[in-house]
Amino acid sequence: AGSEEADEAVRGTCEDASICKRFAVSIGYWKDPYIQYFVRPAKERKAPEINRGYYARVHGVSQLLTAFLKKTECNCQIINLGAGMDTMFWRLKDENLLPKKYFEVDFPMIVARKIHNIKSKPPLSKPIMESHSGESFLIDAHSLDSSRYAILAADLRDSSELDEKLKKFNMDTQLPTLLIAECVLVYMTPQQSASLLKWAANTFQAAMCINYEQVNMADRFGQIMIENLQRRQCSLAGVEACKSLDSQRDRLLLNGWETARAIDMMEVYRYLPQADVKRIEGLEFLDEKELLEQLMQHYCICWAVKDRCNLGLSNITF
Ligand code: SAM
Repeated sequence: AGSEEADEAVRGTCEDASICKRFAVSIGYWKDPYIQYFVRPAKERKAPEINRGYYARVHGVSQLLTAFLKKTECNCQIINLGAGMDTMFWRLKDENLLPKKYFEVDFPMIVARKIHNIKSKPPLSKPIMESHSGESFLIDAHSLDSSRYAILAADLRDSSELDEKLKKFNMDTQLPTLLIAECVLVYMTPQQSASLLKWAANTFQAAMCINYEQVNMADRFGQIMIENLQRRQCSLAGVEACKSLDSQRDRLLLNGWETARAIDMMEVYRYLPQADVKRIEGLEFLDEKELLEQLMQHYCICWAVKDRCNLGLSNITF
């Protein structure tokens, strides 16, 4: 594990992400009635290119996730690694698209904060109770386990601890499983993220992994991004794998995944439905098209599949 200061800085990134998401939602980029219960409003406006970047990120991840749910007819589980204040569980419940079980994992401090919010805000707790049936419902400061939703504290740098805890919460290794890591792996050393990805590839018969994070970090703009993050004392131990789209893909292929693809966010942006693009581009005036493009070329979505049951998971794409 890293130093306590570095871990604290990493935990701070969770708040940043949610504040940016809440701000973009408040401007109308996408709908998320739940994010307001997890994080305070932004102190100042976020730049339009940041908001568009978040739109592409949220839309991109959710497009692949929805494709996985449709392919498996929701007869699956989702594990969100480093979930922070993510609201996907609540949004899927509203859309009637819940998997058999939705798991979230993060550091104890983040999990405690999330559970506190859930406990004290009925719009968050009600959907969990509504989707719960029968058996025992567990809730304490660092974990919550219900039939369809569980959140637990674990350090992702220790995959045997992770495995043990998820099994205690009834993770089913026989079910098709989607693992999501959104801006998480970059904070781990290459060995740590490799062992996490290997664990995931070896644990399930049928699985898909979605990873969203930085890419093309070797160029000038990438260096500036790294310096900005370092100024905030964030450990960027994993930036090595963020060198290129190829290095992102290779990491997945070298750690047990059968097929893998990686595309930068500019490409994701081009795949967005034209009506959506027209709508969001009308929300705010964007002067610096080039800045948006540069930013989008420095983030990517990678997805990998292992499909021993021939469910057709490798056909999932944009
Ligand atoms: N995935 C969320 C999102 O996109 O909104 C949060 C992203 S935030 C940038 C990174 C999250 O990963 C934080 O909540 C942090 O606490 C979590 N995280 C990073 N390293 C971790 C580790 N070793 N174990 C558990 N959680 C970790």
